[in-house]
Amino acid sequence: MTNTRKKVLVFKELPPDQLARLQAEHDVTVANPRLPEQAAAFHAALASAEGMIGSSYPVNEDLLAAAPHLKVISSVSVGVDNYALSALAARGIMLCHTPGVLTETTADTIFALIMATSRRLVELANHVRDGHWTHNVGESLFGWDVHGKTLGILGFGRIGQAVARRAALGFGMPVLYHSRRPVDMAKALPELAGKATHTPLDELLQRADIIAAVLPLSVQTRGLMGAREFGLMKPGAIFINGARGALVQEGALLNALNHGTLRAAGLDVFATEPLPMGSPLRRHPRVTALPHIGSATFETRHAMAVLATSNLLQALAGERPAAVFEATGS
Ligand code: NAP
Repeated sequence: MTNTRKKVLVFKELPPDQLARLQAEHDVTVANPRLPEQAAAFHAALASAEGMIGSSYPVNEDLLAAAPHLKVISSVSVGVDNYALSALAARGIMLCHTPGVLTETTADTIFALIMATSRRLVELANHVRDGHWTHNVGESLFGWDVHGKTLGILGFGRIGQAVARRAALGFGMPVLYHSRRPVDMAKALPELAGKATHTPLDELLQRADIIAAVLPLSVQTRGLMGAREFGLMKPGAIFINGARGALVQEGALLNALNHGTLRAAGLDVFATEPLPMGSPLRRHPRVTALPHIGSATFETRHAMAVLATSNLLQALAGERPAAVFEATGS
């Protein structure tokens, strides 16, 4: 009988039930390169790895050069900005990811940031916690309505559309969206027909009260939100980033908060993660900062692990996995 067991490198911890699925069929090394005590084992395992599974670590050309037998990477994420896509294509290495299973949870997180920034929820909860609620709150602690406001969504794919459904159908918010191609609403999203409008970026920036970024990070979108873009936003507008930190020029964001007219920012993601202690965004009074928890619920993180494990097992068996990453456009 031929040995079908392959060398698999798990580079971010998997739930025990999913690790067991891999171990039943393959020879598995678990080594997280972000942990100093496991980095050497990770680099050693690259030499023989045929499949890798994990997330939150840059798989660059140097790393790929150290993995000459690699055939497939299964990312436990939908975003694939950590992977050297052209090098993977040149080597014929398959890249899988986890679209769909995290859509609604990430949209929930983005909507939570919209609510938290507009209604000053964290600040006011701390007001109570810190013992300052000694008389009824006055105007200095009022927030701003969410319902009925115009929401601009940068990126109108799975998650952007899920945010739009919450906004348009739940909160009566007109939605403007920016993407390279308009979505055929009547066909793909009839429930949002007439409620969400494809809008050129500059016009969206000028018209929206709240702007949420849900774009993939790519060569085209890196640094998309800079001084010019923040300068176009309405006085008192709110900016939310639920996608990737590097979409935003953080110096320009801070400048818009401190010296411009941006009211508040809700950020789940940052250019450098974890957010450095010295970052002015960490304690800014009008920034609600989260530790990249877009998909971080028990249910969704497990569903992501299941899909990523299935992708890897299918690829190693020579089958077409359920979720192979396909680059669209350039
Ligand atoms: P998706 O379904 O692929 O949607 C991406 C959207 O962005 C599409 O509307 C696409 O439309 C648009 N787009 C892509 N490149 C563009 C460009 N250069 N200019 C304008 N629009 C562009 O992806 P998704 O599942 O919604 O996920 C979106 C991103 O969210 C992921 O890539 C990931 O980085 C991030 N994310 C973050 C978290 C978190 O924890 N905070 C969790 C999940 C996902 P066109 O192709 O027509 O332009």
